[in-house]
Amino acid sequence: MHDSPNMSDSRYSRHYAGRVVEDDDGNEYRVVMRFDVCPVCHGNGKHVNPALDDNGLSEESASDADFMEDYMAGVYDVTCGRCDGLRVVEEPDPTRNPQRVLDLWFERDAELEQDDAIQRAEIAAGC
Ligand SMILES: [Zn+2]
Repeated sequence: MHDSPNMSDSRYSRHYAGRVVEDDDGNEYRVVMRFDVCPVCHGNGKHVNPALDDNGLSEESASDADFMEDYMAGVYDVTCGRCDGLRVVEEPDPTRNPQRVLDLWFERDAELEQDDAIQRAEIAAGC
């Protein structure tokens, strides 16, 4: 029994085993991932509740001094839904994946986000 020279390689592939995209013909492609600062919270791990200022603050809110004080102090902050408070997100590495794989990834990403949006809308509607 001796150390396999490929030990770190196998750890690597296990870690990324789930990062696979599939095209319409059922061909699977492994996606090379990297960590990026979260584009939503910019590395803070939290952001102001999007329900409050998704479409910009209302004039009424913006002229309410008490509200603005709380707002600036982070009272309305929620844990970032994109990175779950981790401050970084796993993204496909644009320099290490073929364009085809990136296209498939972002297609799937967009679909997932659509599902999310539908779910949020249903929750908001009280379904
Ligand atoms: Zn984030």
